[in-house]
Amino acid sequence: MSDCLFCKMVAGVIKPDVVYEDDAVLAFRDINPQAPSHVLVVPKRHISTINDLTGADAELVGRLYLAAKKVAGQDGIAAEGYRTVMNCNAAAGQTVFHLHLHVLGGRNMHWPPG
Ligand code: 5GP
Ligand code: ZN
Repeated sequence: MSDCLFCKMVAGVIKPDVVYEDDAVLAFRDINPQAPSHVLVVPKRHISTINDLTGADAELVGRLYLAAKKVAGQDGIAAEGYRTVMNCNAAAGQTVFHLHLHVLGGRNMHWPPG
């Protein structure tokens, strides 16, 4: 078993609060939510960062966004608005090195981000 936290969730060894799942992605609530609705959408296949993506992953990246749209609809934040964020490497704040898309909503977001 990989030492990766999100791979363990995909494998079912650690059980997060799952809100959506299909053959390619898993979506679950962030343990330390930064907004009333804060979901992480991860590919089931391990990819560490955006820098590791290849052309072969183009459909998978699209699937992450389609899952984000679905989750936003389920949480009732689609119409008012929500933010998607994918941090890449330490300076951007990435702490878990398994690709993940943050879906944040339920409050007004600010710009520029911190
Ligand atoms: P990053 O900082 O890498 O962009 O985001 C990692 C996210 O994973 C953080 O928002 C953090 O709260 C979340 N996280 C870390 N450990 C766990 C965990 O064990 N369970 C869940 N559900 N989220 C986690
Ligand atoms: Zn992983």
